[in-house]
Amino acid sequence: MKKLIALIALALMTQPAHAQDAAPKWSLAIHGGAGTLDPAQMTPEKRVQYEAALQAALDAGSKVLKDGGAAMDAVKAAIVILEDNPLFNAGKGAVFTWDGTNELDASIMDGRDRSAGAVAGVKTVKNPILLADTVRTQSEHVMLMGKGAEDFAVSKGFAVTPPVYFATPERREALERMKAEKLSALDVDHKFGTVGAVALDRSGNLAAGTSTGGMTGKRWGRVGDAPLIGAGTYADNRSCAVSATGWGEYFIRVGVAHEICARLRFQGAKPQDAADDVMADVAKLGGDGGVILVTPEGEAIFSFNTTGMYRGRATSAGVNEVAIFGGEVRASNTPNH
Ligand code: ASP
Repeated sequence: MKKLIALIALALMTQPAHAQDAAPKWSLAIHGGAGTLDPAQMTPEKRVQYEAALQAALDAGSKVLKDGGAAMDAVKAAIVILEDNPLFNAGKGAVFTWDGTNELDASIMDGRDRSAGAVAGVKTVKNPILLADTVRTQSEHVMLMGKGAEDFAVSKGFAVTPPVYFATPERREALERMKAEKLSALDVDHKFGTVGAVALDRSGNLAAGTSTGGMTGKRWGRVGDAPLIGAGTYADNRSCAVSATGWGEYFIRVGVAHEICARLRFQGAKPQDAADDVMADVAKLGGDGGVILVTPEGEAIFSFNTTGMYRGRATSAGVNEVAIFGGEVRASNTPNH
């Protein structure tokens, strides 16, 4: 007996340090939109700007998770940084509607209890993702739109941001070119600049969030997939957390985010296969774009049927990378703790 105890003690002492204090894993993936990205069109300076912006968002979210914070907080931390950066089509730098305004959509979901919040068509809220989360936590609703959502924001203490804050010359020029040359939104944008984040925290909880200005020249109150739970955003601790970017109408029709999670949950599909198959389904209907997802096992995965997607991922297994074009970071990582 004594010998056995001594052996167990020895075995414990000789375990590698990292195994003794291995904290539970965490994982984070972010995107800043997918689209027809041409490496030849991307100057080195532009590339540095995009990569720095993605890295800053990734770092902000990673810090929350590394310190044992909640997946929901990591998702918000990453998205706020991308909303504040005019390079992306969310918050400042959102695309213009046909009428020359910026109308913002966002949604967020907590995989722990599937509580969710969303806003559509808001014009005066600096960080729509935070308003979406306030709808989740401080109202009995899931989705608020337009003026009502703005009134709700004021009632909860959000500052009224002047609409001019969101406008940038590049996005205005895209609208003008669209009208002058009778182009489609895809012709002028080439990419979808929606932003999103998905996370697994050390407590095993998943979260997902998405924020966008929609598509250039949208009119008649058009709303895409980004604020729709199940289409652009979904999180469920039993399967995965997903955020999408792309041609919203197709993502709504496929129910992309929920469809991927359902395939994991009911079919036991491999996460990369589920994401690729659902994106192939979107392509079959004529749509394009991409998704990011994380699983309860800590995998952080990308899938897109466009030439590129602004993206990044970081995990407790030591992965930390950002990428823009296809092929740069493709295979899913295999977490080792
Ligand atoms: N999915 C967004 C929409 O259709 C656009 C984007 O991803 O940039 O509104």
